This record gives sequence, C-alpha cells and structure tokens, in this order.
Amino acid sequence: MPNIFRNLPSVNQLLEHPRLKEVIENVNHRVVVDGVRTFLDDLREQVSVAKEEISIPTPQELADRIADWLETEEQPALQPVINATGVILHTGLGRAPLASVATKAVATVAAGYASVEVDLRDGQRGQRIRAVERLLCELTGAEAAAVVNNNAAATMLTLSALAKGQEVIVSRGQLIEIGGSYRLPDVMECSGARLREVGTTNKTHGFDYSNAINDETGALMRVHPSNFEVVGFTQSVSTRELAKIAAPHNLPVIDDIGSGALIDFSKYGLTDEPVASDSIRDGADIALFSGDKLIGGPQCGIIVGKKKYIERILRDPLMRAMRVGKMTLAALSATLQLYRNVDQAEQSVPILQMLSMPLENVKLRAEKIATQLASNVKLQDVVAMEDHSMLGGGSLPTQRIATWCVSFAAAEESINSIADSMRKLTPPVFGRVNKDRMLLDMRTVRPSEDLALVDAMLAIGSASPE
Ligand SMILES: *Cc1c(COP(=O)(O)O)cnc(C)c1O
Repeated sequence: MPNIFRNLPSVNQLLEHPRLKEVIENVNHRVVVDGVRTFLDDLREQVSVAKEEISIPTPQELADRIADWLETEEQPALQPVINATGVILHTGLGRAPLASVATKAVATVAAGYASVEVDLRDGQRGQRIRAVERLLCELTGAEAAAVVNNNAAATMLTLSALAKGQEVIVSRGQLIEIGGSYRLPDVMECSGARLREVGTTNKTHGFDYSNAINDETGALMRVHPSNFEVVGFTQSVSTRELAKIAAPHNLPVIDDIGSGALIDFSKYGLTDEPVASDSIRDGADIALFSGDKLIGGPQCGIIVGKKKYIERILRDPLMRAMRVGKMTLAALSATLQLYRNVDQAEQSVPILQMLSMPLENVKLRAEKIATQLASNVKLQDVVAMEDHSMLGGGSLPTQRIATWCVSFAAAEESINSIADSMRKLTPPVFGRVNKDRMLLDMRTVRPSEDLALVDAMLAIGSASPE
C-alpha cells in the first residue's frame, strides 16, 4: 500500500471545510457524509489500481471537488432542456410542450384544491372528466368521452371493458409496435381480450373481417399504422366500411387513430394524420388517441365515442388504475379550449407554432445564431444549412418538414464528445448528429429560447464542469 493514503484527510476534517458546510446546509448532513465517504473510497480505489503515481489533491481541492460532485448529483433528474433535434414530438424529451394558458391552468390547480369530482352547480359528486368531456365531444362530434394516463392505457382499458374474454378482429397489417414497449398484441393480451388476426401484411379486405365474426367476437379494431407504410399492392378497410360490417352484428368498432389530430394537418404537409372527428363521423364507436401528440397537450389517452360504450369503460375496474389527476385535466381542458378557434390554436399551441413557422423565419434565426456561435473555438465551420425536421412521437418518418439548422463540426474532439458537453450545459442542449457534424434544428427551438441556446453553446469548452 502506498503511504499516500495517509495523506488523505479524514471525513471529519473534510466536513469542516466551508464549501462542504454550505452543501450540508443546502442538502443534509447524512447525504454529505455518505458522499464524502464514497468519494474517498473511490479515490483510494483509483490510487491503488493506478499504474502511474497519482498526486493526492490538497484537502481544500478535495473538499471543492466533493462539493461540486454532490451538487451535480443533487440536481433534479428532470430538467428543462432545449430540443434542437428537429423531432417535434420527441418522446425522450417529453413530447409536446404546453401552451402558456395550459401551464397557467396547471399551476393554478396544483397549488390548491380543485373541483375535480364535484359539480359546482349542484354540489353533487360528478365524473372527474366532466371538465373536459364537453370540449372533447364538441371537438370530435362524439357523444361521450373518458381520459386516462396515455393511449396505451386507453387501448388496454377499452379492450378490457368491451371485449374481455372475447375475440377482437384486427388486420395483420395493423399489428404495430411503437417505440419498443408498445406492441398491440401484448397490450391486447394484458387486457384479457383475444387477438383474432385477419388478412395479410399488405392486404386486408372487408370479407376478411366479416368471415371472422362469430359468437366469440367482442369488437372490430382498426389501428393507424403510425410509424410505417406499406407501399405497392396494398389494401385496408376504411372505418366507414368496418362500421357497415359491424352494425348488423351489434359489435363496436374501435379506432386507434394514434396521434389524435383535432384539425387537418395536411396544410403543414403532413398528409398521414387521421382527424378524430373524421373517425367519429365515419362510424367508429370508439376512437382512441394520445393527448401529447398532435393535440399538443399533456400526456394522456383520450377515449371518445358512443355513450353506451363509454359508460362501460368508466365502470371497468382498470379505469381507477389509469385515471388522470387534476393537473392533467387542467392542462388538457385549457389546451382543448384553444381548438375552438383554429387560428387561436395555431398561435398558442407550441407544436402548431413550430409547424406553421415560415421557413424564412427559421432560416433567419439559424443564420443569426450561426454567426454568434462562430466565435467558439471548439466549433468549426459554423454555418446555417437547410434540412428536414420530423414530427416524431411514432409518426411516419417519411413525412418531412423543411427546416434550417445551425450546423458545425468539432474543432478538436469528436462530434460525439461535443454532444456529451451539450448535454451538460445549462440548460442542456440536444441536437442531431449527421455524419461528423452537429445540427441544431431551429424549428424545434422556441424563439424565446434562442438567447439561452447561444449563451449555453458559447460556454462549451470554457468553464465546463469536467
Ligand atoms: C403513439 C401511439 C400509441 C401509444 O400512445 P401513448 O400515448 O404513447 O401511450 C398507440 N397507438 C398508436 C397508433 C400510436 O401512434
């Protein structure tokens, strides 16, 4: 054992240092003591396995380093970040940012009590979704609505309530997997309904469904194959057609439309996104969609459709396990209000602002920021460059949206180590790496974040914590 260990200060000596005393005050004594022990153990370990001699830091340096490390560790894991990836509904970055009226509504109900399950008109105990049901019905043309934790929950709950122990007929072309953990056959199995696959991968006809209907059938289901596309000889059965097939048998048609557009997105060049009101108009008994995809609201799963089915869904025991809280209801309600006027929604819902921002504006911002970042020696060849953003959130990757990016190479290190440093900035910045260049896509950066983006990016390589 090298006698160098004898030079290490004791835990108690270190705790006397002002920097660590400060951390004790801000965090607590036990956390700091544990932290100092762990740090000293790690240091001993490093010294004992090191091939070359390691110089032991002075107690002062050691205390400072431990304090810095503890402060990083103590930062909340959930932090606001700048999304310069160009993926508008980035699931890893929390999908849709909320409109400011929605964040205000959340803050207002979060701090106090709220009329979650009471009807203020008569004081009776009411359904907790009443706050949003009327709006959902108005915007989709449905008779009734329910809201749960996300669309995966909405699917599981609907299948459980309407088809537990029965068969649900689905086209083989629609047995989707989205984002790894969501696979329709698995969700179906958890719900207690049995999957009855019909048709082939590329073609499913109306007769495939009608031939499969028997005494065991509980529902017919359509799923929007959000993230892939079958090209060539393809055929699928429309909601309208499916409703005609189901009607004589008195079976519900469940339509999982996925992203849940409340308005037509084709004006943004996105032609593949089904609109909730179309699904209801075409005869779906139940339409399912996410609240945090194209609506641009909070994470939730929305179920709209015929009253008799929604009532069964609300009575299912799973409903209680999947219900949403007052903050989700407040955010959803405020977001839905905006859609009563499409212009208002476009002006206030962040994802619609991003989609509708004129290319020329995105270009000007990219050019301006490229000029500002050029002074950072860590970045090389900083230019504004035209490229494409993506919708994300399990939507079709071939749907591309024109954009402008700030693009640069790394002066010395690899572009991946620049990406690492960007993740540690305040606020952390996420871009997309393309070959050996980093792209900062200005379509997903809010204009109000431009200054913070520049400030953060200029700090790369200067006072970085490591
Ligand atoms: C995204 C998606 C889901 C899952 O929705 P979550 O809200 O993420 O649970 C289910 N079905 C389809 C078709 C989707 O696009």
